Amino acid sequence: MTLKQQYIDGKWVNANSGNTRDIINPFNQEVIATVAEGDQTDSKNAIAAARKAFDQGDWPSTPATERGNIVRKIAELIERDKEELAKIESLDTGKTIIESRGDMDDIAGVFRYYAELADKDGGEIIDSPIPNSISRVVREPVGVCGQITPWNYPLLQASWKLAPALVTGNTLVMKPSEITPLTTVKVFELIEEAGVPAGVANLVLGPGTTVGSELSSNTDVDLISFTGGIETGKKIMQTASVNVKKLALELGGKNPNVIFADADFEAAVDHALNAVFFHAGQICSAGTRVIVEESLHDEFVKAIVARVEKIKLGSGFDDDTQMGPLISAEHLAKVEAYVEAGKKEGATVAVGGYRPEEPELQKGFFYMPTIFTDCTTDMSIVQEEAFAPVITVEKFRTEEEAIKLANDSIYGLAGGVWTSDIVKAERCVAKMRMGTVWINDFNLYFPHAPWGGFKQSGIGRELGKPGLEEYTETKHIFHNLKPEPINWF
Ligand code: NAD
Repeated sequence: MTLKQQYIDGKWVNANSGNTRDIINPFNQEVIATVAEGDQTDSKNAIAAARKAFDQGDWPSTPATERGNIVRKIAELIERDKEELAKIESLDTGKTIIESRGDMDDIAGVFRYYAELADKDGGEIIDSPIPNSISRVVREPVGVCGQITPWNYPLLQASWKLAPALVTGNTLVMKPSEITPLTTVKVFELIEEAGVPAGVANLVLGPGTTVGSELSSNTDVDLISFTGGIETGKKIMQTASVNVKKLALELGGKNPNVIFADADFEAAVDHALNAVFFHAGQICSAGTRVIVEESLHDEFVKAIVARVEKIKLGSGFDDDTQMGPLISAEHLAKVEAYVEAGKKEGATVAVGGYRPEEPELQKGFFYMPTIFTDCTTDMSIVQEEAFAPVITVEKFRTEEEAIKLANDSIYGLAGGVWTSDIVKAERCVAKMRMGTVWINDFNLYFPHAPWGGFKQSGIGRELGKPGLEEYTETKHIFHNLKPEPINWF
C-alpha cells in the first residue's frame, strides 16, 4: 500500500517527522490506506509556500477567466474519476456508494458553478461626489487561506472552500479531517493535473490540535474557513484573533422539522426519514427535531416508526443497504451515551436505541435508527447536536407554539415546515431563525444558494455569491483626474 502524502509547494512530501496514520474503514475496521501524519512544522512549510505564491507568484494577477478555466478543468477531472472518488469516499466514511456518487456529482457542480462566476465580477463604477474624478469598487483576493474540514462530507465540504478560493486568486492550505483525508488527497492530484501552479494550493494532513491550530494561529494566514464542531469553532475564533484573520465558520445544527396536520402526509413522512437517516444522521443539517401538530402526532409517529423498523443496515457497497455505520468507535460511544441520557431524562424510545445484534455488523460502528417520543425542549437530546441516526419528536397545538419550539436552540443552521397552507408556511419561515428554511422539503441544497447558520451555527456563508465574496476583500479606488492643492495647511 503506497503512503498518501501531503502536497506542499507543488511537491508530494512525507511528514517532516516521518510519522504516519492508518485510515480505517468504519464498516469493518480494516486499514484502507496509510497517510503522512503532519505536525506544526508541515503546516508552517505549507503556509510559507502559500505566502510566497501569493506575494511573489502570478496567481492573484492571473486573469480571472484563466483561473476559471483551470477550476473548470478540476470539475472535468472529478467527473472523469467519479467512480474511483465515490468508492474511496464510501470506504473512508461508511456511507453508501449511491450517496457518494451523488456527492461527487455535487462536488463537480460546485467547481463548475464557481468556474462560471470567476470572471463575472469586474467591479463597479460608483457615483463620485467630486468633479473630475472616477470612483470604483473592485474585489481582490484576501491572501493566504487556511481551510479546515470535517469527516462527514469530506470532499463536499472541501469543494465549497477550494473552488471559490481558487477562482478569486487566493492561495491556500487545506487540512482535511485526520480520519477521512483520502478523497481530498486524490483531488489535490487532480488540482495538480489541472495546472494550478505550485504553492497555490497546499495540502497538510494530521490532527487539528497541531496542524489545524497552526493554521488558525499563524500570522501569515489571512483567512480561516472552518467547518466542524462548535467547540472547535470557538477555539479557532480565539486563536485567529492573533492577527484579526477573516473568519468563516460553518458549525453544527439541531434542526427543527415542523409538521402541521394539513401537510401532505406521505411526503412529510418520507422526508422526515430522509432528513435524518442519510449518512446515519451525520449531517449538520439533519432534521433531528421533529415537531408535530398534536392532532397528527400519533398517526405520524406510527408511520415513521413502521418505516424505520425496515431500514436496512450494512455495507455501503451492497445494493440493498440504506444506512451505513457511524464514523468511529469514539463517535459510537458518544451516540450511545446521548441515547442513554434521553432514556434517563424520561423520553420514550419508540424504536431503536441500541446497537444491532447481527453478527455481520459487529465489526462496524453501527447504531440502530432511533426515534424518541415524549420529548421536551429541556432535554439534552433535544438541545445537543448528536450527529446520530436519532429523531426526537415534540408536539405542538398552535402555530405560535410550533415556532417557539423550532427556535428554541442555540443553533440556527436549517429547518423545515410542512403544510398545504402557503400563507401559513410563509408566516412560519419568516419567523424561523435559520440560514436555510425549506417549505415542504428538507435538506435540499444546490451551489447557487448560500449555506450557513444564524446564531451559534456559524459566521459567514458558503456557496452562492456570498460564498465567493468570503474570499475577497473590497477595495474602493478613488482617482482624482484633476489634482489641485487644497491650501488648508
Ligand atoms: P471537529 O470540530 O472535531 O473537527 C473538524 C476539523 O477541525 C477537523 O479537521 C479537525 O482535525 C479540526 N480541528 C480539531 N481541533 C482543532 C483545533 N484546535 N484547531 C484547528 N482545527 C482543529 O468536527 P468533526 O467531528 O470533524 O465534524 C462534525 C461537526 O461538523 C459537527 O458539529 C457538524 O455539525 C459540523 N459540520 C457543519 C457543517 C455546516 O455546513 N455547518 C457541515 C458539516 C459538518
